[in-house]
Amino acid sequence: MITKVTKLNDDFLGEVNLQGKTYLVNNACLGEAVDVVIDKKDAKIKRIIEASPIRVKPLCPIYEKCGGCRLLHINYQSQLELKHQKIGELFKKNGFKTPVEKVLGMKDPSHYRNKNQVVFGFDEKRRVVAGFYEEETHHVVNYESCYIQDEYADAIINGIKELIIKMHLTIYNEDKRTGLIRHVMIKRSKALNETMVIIVTSSEVFPGRANFIKALLASFKNITTIIQNVNSKKTTHVLGDKNIILFGKGYIFDELCGFKFMISPNSFYQVNPLQAKVLYEAALNNAHLSKEDVLLDAYSGVGTIGMIASPNVKKVISVELEASAVNDALTNIKNNNIKNVHCYCDDATRFINNLARKHEKIDVVVMDPPRKGSDEAFLKAVLSLKPKKIIYISCNPYTQVRDLQLLKNDYEIKFIQPVDMFPHTA
Ligand code: SAH
Repeated sequence: MITKVTKLNDDFLGEVNLQGKTYLVNNACLGEAVDVVIDKKDAKIKRIIEASPIRVKPLCPIYEKCGGCRLLHINYQSQLELKHQKIGELFKKNGFKTPVEKVLGMKDPSHYRNKNQVVFGFDEKRRVVAGFYEEETHHVVNYESCYIQDEYADAIINGIKELIIKMHLTIYNEDKRTGLIRHVMIKRSKALNETMVIIVTSSEVFPGRANFIKALLASFKNITTIIQNVNSKKTTHVLGDKNIILFGKGYIFDELCGFKFMISPNSFYQVNPLQAKVLYEAALNNAHLSKEDVLLDAYSGVGTIGMIASPNVKKVISVELEASAVNDALTNIKNNNIKNVHCYCDDATRFINNLARKHEKIDVVVMDPPRKGSDEAFLKAVLSLKPKKIIYISCNPYTQVRDLQLLKNDYEIKFIQPVDMFPHTA
């Protein structure tokens, strides 16, 4: 059926109208004339009749199956413009009139991720495959390279796949809960050329473990640490709680904005370090900090933002819930010889309410919550601190505009700066 793509929805999926119904369509550009077939609740493009001028050939062999890079068929400059437009519309629709700045993009938007993770499974011929789950399924799409992942990490994953086959190691089966190898996660610092390999297993018993490690290290000289993470639970979480260090220190370092950061297996660290620098600089430059200021870094992870701000303020107070991230932050503060950052492990809301009760003077609040955003209790606690400025860093503009509704009576939005942290993805 020939039709036209009439809209790109909030997830950047195309919409077509057929027989009075709206269907979602992947890999589409707005305004394109396409020939589609209806497949259950979605429409699939059979043929593009009139391609959009912003369309390009996706530079990835598994683009259509994987679904991770939903925008790879659109040239990068146009991706940035589309994201700018979406954010502009969103803020406007929610009653915020401040203009949205142009999206800060990457010079080279390829292989930017510093964290890879793959799941293991079998193909139709019962061959071992490593890759990602196909969109909305638990079918593993095999991959040998990925346009946005680190190339050295890709090579290690392929090496591990070969070793698993050679050593007849078993692959974990989610349904039957049998087999050993669940995932492999790789964290890399390109700046310092350090590499952490995490092998996630369903039990601690790992037959041939010593030989496995020896063979891996022989092939990949830049591996600095190897960890076995044990995850025996029936869960969609990749990592379990137990880490066994098999080689090296059990963590790596990365360098960002002139500081060195320690990264452990379970701690959050920005996945696109080049853009993390752009993001942090945009946030802190617009905070117009002074040497008299006390800055609160809420949802602080391994302490990055507070540490980067520390030379320009009197004092930083950081709060983070995850104990391993706080431990990393404490090490980072010490290693970087910083004296004015104080780090606490607590729920951010509870912590801020305590600060307010003690009449602690906070000049600037930087908040960087997870995707689900913050909540009313946290925002009320922030309001009770009466900071001069709030810098709200968000990885989900939808939860951000929701949260901003609760701040708008007391604060005015001065500046909105989007940063493209995940080129080619929605
Ligand atoms: N600002 C950091 C981390 C941002 S990710 C950076 O740029 O690297 C969000 C962080 O919020 C995660 O580290 C998560 O563990 C933490 N977090 C989630 N819920 C929290 C809560 N209720 N209180 C404090 N921290 C929380």
